[in-house]
Amino acid sequence: MPKPPRYVSRSDLGWGKSPAAGANPRSGLVIHYDSIDQGLAGKAHSACITYWKATREFHTGPSRGWADIGYSFLCCSHGHVIEGRGLRKVQAAQPGGNSTYYSATLATGPRDEITEAQIDAVRALRQWLMEPDTSIAGTVKGHRDFISTSCPGDKAYALVRNGTFKQPPGSGGGSEDDMVGLRKGDSGERVKYLQVVLADAGFSPGEVDGDYGASTAAAVLAARKSRGSKETSGDKITGWAAAQIMAAHAVKLGG
Ligand SMILES: [Zn+2]
Ligand SMILES: [Zn+2]
Repeated sequence: MPKPPRYVSRSDLGWGKSPAAGANPRSGLVIHYDSIDQGLAGKAHSACITYWKATREFHTGPSRGWADIGYSFLCCSHGHVIEGRGLRKVQAAQPGGNSTYYSATLATGPRDEITEAQIDAVRALRQWLMEPDTSIAGTVKGHRDFISTSCPGDKAYALVRNGTFKQPPGSGGGSEDDMVGLRKGDSGERVKYLQVVLADAGFSPGEVDGDYGASTAAAVLAARKSRGSKETSGDKITGWAAAQIMAAHAVKLGG
């Protein structure tokens, strides 16, 4: 089965086979973070490799003394899936689920951005692990579902809860279909996608914050009117509204 795109293996890292004990995790994937902001989204990808190697030194060093780096994988800001312990290994990541779930850290801190490329890396990893060879369940959890901890941070945990990581990979930030059905008062990644499209189309929804409020509704209405709509409210996205918004976007981009 093909690995996720932009996969970085242990051999790419210069690491041998993991000495950790074997396991056959089948229950799903657990998301983690770093308790300290790392700013990796604003740095070159080489900084992720440096981070990962330092993490392994720390985990196998005197303060932890583990057999290997604790996690199965890192899904980095640049969209790479970087191998940790890798497939079929017990982890030192989420007590209570170290041999039944796989683990992936985002290496983000509480205020670090979680990028679209990173979300897509998690989706690709999950899909790969669900293939027959490893056949995990599609469940995605956060570290805090196992023990009392801040991990994986409020931002990542919101994405765990709203199903963002369970969407298929390769769809980028979203699609026209992701907009349909949204209404004023909604919030989340789909709203954020709508706001980005509106802003790109020249109809600013104000801050791109994932909240469908009055300014987003006004931008929806303006975008629709630019395509000849006689609507008087931008409070919901019907299929026809989404088509008009995408058409306004295409005009702006010269499509
Ligand atoms: Zn954690
Ligand atoms: Zn990276």
